[in-house]
Amino acid sequence: YFMSETVITTSSMITVGGLADIVHRPVSQLITELMKNGIMATVNEKIDIDTAQILINELGLDIKLNQKNNQTDDQSLINLKNNQINHQGIERPPIVAVMGHVDHGKTSLLDNIRATNVVKKEAGGITQHISAYQVKYKDKLITFLDTPGHEAFSAIRQHGARLTDIVVIVIAADDGIKPQTIEALKFAKQAQSKIIIAVNKIDKEGADVIKIKQQLADQDILIEEWGGETVLVEVSAKTGQGVDKLLDMILLVAELEELKADIKSPASGLIIEAHLEKGRGPVVYGLVYQGVLKINDFIIAGQSYGKIRNLESMEGQTVVEAYPATPVKIVGLKTLPDFGDEFKIIKNEKAAKKIISELTSEDIISQSINSTELIRRINQSNNLKKINILIKADVKGSLTSVIDSLKSLETDEVALSIVGSSVGSVNENDLYLAKTTNSIIYSFNTSLSGSILHQAQRDHIEIKNYKIIYELIDDVKNRLSDLLNPEIIEKFVGELQIKAIFSTTKNEIICGGLVLSGKINLNSLLRVKRGENLILESKLNNLKRGQVNVKEVLEGELCGLSIDISNNQKVEILIDDKIEFYDQEIVERSL
Ligand code: GDP
Repeated sequence: YFMSETVITTSSMITVGGLADIVHRPVSQLITELMKNGIMATVNEKIDIDTAQILINELGLDIKLNQKNNQTDDQSLINLKNNQINHQGIERPPIVAVMGHVDHGKTSLLDNIRATNVVKKEAGGITQHISAYQVKYKDKLITFLDTPGHEAFSAIRQHGARLTDIVVIVIAADDGIKPQTIEALKFAKQAQSKIIIAVNKIDKEGADVIKIKQQLADQDILIEEWGGETVLVEVSAKTGQGVDKLLDMILLVAELEELKADIKSPASGLIIEAHLEKGRGPVVYGLVYQGVLKINDFIIAGQSYGKIRNLESMEGQTVVEAYPATPVKIVGLKTLPDFGDEFKIIKNEKAAKKIISELTSEDIISQSINSTELIRRINQSNNLKKINILIKADVKGSLTSVIDSLKSLETDEVALSIVGSSVGSVNENDLYLAKTTNSIIYSFNTSLSGSILHQAQRDHIEIKNYKIIYELIDDVKNRLSDLLNPEIIEKFVGELQIKAIFSTTKNEIICGGLVLSGKINLNSLLRVKRGENLILESKLNNLKRGQVNVKEVLEGELCGLSIDISNNQKVEILIDDKIEFYDQEIVERSL
């Protein structure tokens, strides 16, 4: 019969805690269910609706989730953006990203703009790659953001709503819209940025602007000329044709947006580049988002913090402060933050350390959750035996090779669940994670502090520390081997032929026979066969030579047997049936 299913309407993303509320289950049960599948999630972690549905099914609940129409996440993006724009404050330069398909002339266009308009040229004219720079055009500043590699691109995407006001999409006139163009359009829309289309390479033969306008319309981008809102400028990065018009358009769009920034709030912004410089330590480029950043400010960025010793413009000139939408070189952070980390002013070192220690535990626990991964893990956990491990290593390189080597040990029967991996010595968060997930900690080439060892011992957490990678791998290999189901090997003991049947009761058949080969052992297992046919598999209750109970009877001897038929009471044994006796041996396997 059918049970009616409960339907609950929810937004596209929901926190684990929120889900627990709506399905009326303790949040610990949901976390445990996720954990069983190797996913470490906190109460506040968001999962998507598909994942939530799978989780519900795994819990055996008859609830169907239904997605709400207005997506709260998109809504919050819009709110964020509006907040930014509506802020009381001073006018600020627009932040512009240039994107497009490879080879469509993104770099050439930026170079052209930069060569003619950069505030101050670099010494010696050496062009080094910088991730952002400002140009002054008609007495107005424009901040260009160069979005480099793929990873960086997605990091920026996460901050897209707060980062780019205008996205210039470069499309080569002789090539048209390509996959990365569509990707860029998607990014710009998601980020609620204004889009300006720069049709590049119009100097080239084969340039077909009309085709591009058509292709844009197919992507729901309607240009002004065709009654839409999107500005399109024809340019040539090679000849410089149209570049001024593009800059004019950027300023115009920016003006309409009324870009303002709050300079009274404590300064905050985004890390747009970070690298180590010889003799200077970490050098970090940040883009101030609000407030005014000053020398001697104490800042925190991701897991890094420090007091600003020096601020420089992107052209290398010392500045005392940096206003919103200004890229600035920050010297003084103790370690390298990551690209895309947010930075903000903080009271002092103590406050910074506190925030970072909280961050780290969340960082380790958080892991992106999606439905395919969850299904994969559920399937895996149903058929597989596995060991949970947590890996620590001295440097990123060795961490990667340890993980790669360990992953290669997995088979269809045994698997490793790496609940966490990070660079550095084992710390308290690692212990916490290992404890909650019942994991073994493998540490490679790091030192272990006495207090950590002590705490691990107290909490019964196993930490294995290695200096040689092969030894580490071997240890894991041995443990995985232990999980393999042992192999059962059959050893032939002897064969007997039935010569007489004496009596048959409910539970036994008493008969006599001759040992044809090998010997007969009271404790061996037996198989009764008639020709090729298997009649019975069982064991002996008793074995007699003459009237005497014995443990074994040798080849050529006659004996009396009591065959156990308690599990197969209808079986019939006939004279001349043969009985095979065998022992089972359990053999441990290894990988
Ligand atoms: P990116 O991959 O988008 O950064 O593209 P590049 O700026 O590296 O340009 C790719 C190629 O197109 C280079 O060989 C450029 O010289 C050429 N190119 C870029 N812009 C123009 C242009 O306006 N006209 C012509 N004829 N060639 C261009």
